[in-house]
Amino acid sequence: MKKFYVTNSIAYINAEPHIGYGQEILATDVVARYHRDVLKDDTFFLTGADEHGFSVQMNAVKAKMEPKKFVDKLIEKYLDLKVQLNLTYDYFIRTTSEEHKKNAREIWSKALENGYIYKKFYSGVYCVGCEMMKNKSELVNERCPNHPNLIPEIVEEENWFFKLAAFQEKLEKLYKDNPTFVQPDFRFNEVKSLLKSGLEDVSISRPKEKLNWGIEVPNDPMHVMYVWFDALTNYLYPKKYWPADLHIIGKDILRFHAALWPAMLMAAGYENDQLPKKIYVHGFISVDGQKMSKTLGNVVKASDMIERYGKEATRYLLLKELSFDKDGDFSWERMTQTYNADLANDLGNLLQRTLTMINKYRVNIKPKGDYEDIELVGIVNMAIEEMDFVLALTKINAIVQWLNKLIENNKPWDLAEKNPKKCAEILNIIHNYMRVISKCLIPFMPETSKEINRQLESLEPKPLFLRIGGKG
Ligand SMILES: [Zn+2]
Repeated sequence: MKKFYVTNSIAYINAEPHIGYGQEILATDVVARYHRDVLKDDTFFLTGADEHGFSVQMNAVKAKMEPKKFVDKLIEKYLDLKVQLNLTYDYFIRTTSEEHKKNAREIWSKALENGYIYKKFYSGVYCVGCEMMKNKSELVNERCPNHPNLIPEIVEEENWFFKLAAFQEKLEKLYKDNPTFVQPDFRFNEVKSLLKSGLEDVSISRPKEKLNWGIEVPNDPMHVMYVWFDALTNYLYPKKYWPADLHIIGKDILRFHAALWPAMLMAAGYENDQLPKKIYVHGFISVDGQKMSKTLGNVVKASDMIERYGKEATRYLLLKELSFDKDGDFSWERMTQTYNADLANDLGNLLQRTLTMINKYRVNIKPKGDYEDIELVGIVNMAIEEMDFVLALTKINAIVQWLNKLIENNKPWDLAEKNPKKCAEILNIIHNYMRVISKCLIPFMPETSKEINRQLESLEPKPLFLRIGGKG
């Protein structure tokens, strides 16, 4: 049995999960389900939470809570999503857990032993929004590109550094040997040009007087790890499944995953075949053309969508109506339109009227268990492998529409008397085709897929999705 280990990025626990997080973890769930249920791979899906850092520390102070109590409370919203979105991750790693701290310290200690970690006094630019030191090369107009409204702080302190610059050639070789290491290609090109411009060593600790909510540096009790040695090492949790076959991440953390992470592993003595196999980078979601932000008050929470459309439709809508590789734009109006058009009308109606006619015209259904549309299944599977969920779901919807047309063009209600043989033939084709559709939907809408099958067996029609009124 082939093993397949997939991760999404651990969530930063300082706010409730929004739809951007929802889309990422859903996409990862679809890939995991595809490998587990369709390809029958020995699959492991890891997700988790990044619970340390400055803004958690600050927000905890504001809430007059211990940081651990604070994250324990907020993390419930993330854990609830497992049921709310029907996610199938195998483990949820928390960076405050002892098992994680052990992995983080181990990688640090090995990299230190091998001479890739050193201490230096320096002056740098710090973005409070990202909670990160920024290289001069990352700034746009002297501001952080992710937080153009914040003035970066000048920080002077003694920190531990990681010798990222020492991995220039090794990373070049890694990229050359693995032409799909980062996907899509345009993201890989971004990393390659970053490498061309030269890598700088990165700060990996902060003194405890500035930040104490973190993992203590093994060789320096006055410092805590800051961001990357803490966060990235979460992926090492399922030792049996390492290396990761696929890391799914957002575009803002691309360079850390594509350059720093493999370099950290190499520094700790990992061989090339023990590095992650592939990194898939997705875009961000805007709302009605505007960046989602607390200040604008336009953040759409994952729970808002689930409340309106239910979990199955939310899974469908987040992956069909918003592109994943590039930035996508969310609007309630379009979501509701697609919900009504694709799910209530096209899919729901097709199943209902087909079963109603089968009953009404007493059609003898001869299910062909092995009936298969090789082309459709092939396109859907390939689209999932290429993370093109929009294509997969658009293709499935197109077939549903085509089957509805088949009904309208052939008018089984006329044929029932004139040509009952033809009537039965048409309804049999649709009945068999619905099973293929149900199969294609397994990774996307697992419960709907089962429900379609159940109705195809029992021939008892029941609405799959109820129409939603109003304008979104
Ligand atoms: Zn920033």
